[in-house]
Amino acid sequence: MATFYDTHAHLDFPDYRDDLPEVIERARAAGITRIISIGTNLASSQRAIKLAERFPDVFAAVGWHPSDAHEAPDDIRGPLRELVKHPKVVALGEIGLDYHRLPGQKPGGSAADDARYKRKQADIFQQQLEVAAETGLNCVIHQRDSFDDTLAQLKPFAGKVRGVFHCFGENADRMRRVLEIGSLVSFTGIVTFKNGQNVRDTVTATPLDKFMLETDCPYLAPMPYRGKRCEPAYVKEISETVALVKCCSAAELSAATCQTAAEFFPKLK
Ligand SMILES: [Zn+2]
Repeated sequence: MATFYDTHAHLDFPDYRDDLPEVIERARAAGITRIISIGTNLASSQRAIKLAERFPDVFAAVGWHPSDAHEAPDDIRGPLRELVKHPKVVALGEIGLDYHRLPGQKPGGSAADDARYKRKQADIFQQQLEVAAETGLNCVIHQRDSFDDTLAQLKPFAGKVRGVFHCFGENADRMRRVLEIGSLVSFTGIVTFKNGQNVRDTVTATPLDKFMLETDCPYLAPMPYRGKRCEPAYVKEISETVALVKCCSAAELSAATCQTAAEFFPKLK
């Protein structure tokens, strides 16, 4: 059986409170041999580390999500520097910029609110890129409606820090701009959706050694589970569609994506 990694899961979310051991067992049975549980703030990052200590095939990324940036302390570098020392913390993440729901669009919101919100996001992102550069770890990047700003902020770190632009849904031109600065992309279950042709086109254009697979569970369950709770076992369905799109075998896709992940996350043993 071809084996794969789920490089982006949120196993600390309450969705898995009642049946996490079974979720992990189903992943193993489906050939998913490594799972990276991604932090979205300090508490979530600490929970991800606890899960990594509990399950041998689970690893952690620690970071502060841009959508939570307004709740972040002014300086988060100190606590993150401590967390990344853990042997199973393989990356900073998820970090980046998200302009999808700006506060200025809400009733009573103003352009000044948007500016303040974006400044805080950029500041928190910058601090985490600094910690990544200091500690030699790479980053799991979240961006939504903020591609140019996210890339521009990561670019000065090229050569020191690489990012994986997770849940990649941008076109082939933007994918090439990510690869140009030494970063990577990863694809979720959207690739299996009927309306996911734009993502499949980007998969077609992405070299086999420049992307990874992920679920972003509990979100984005692939077909035929679309709309249900997602879980790491479903990387299998994602891999089947990606192999079809890339015209390669499951074994080739397994070898390429696992090697890419092993290089990108050196602590992923
Ligand atoms: Zn995520």
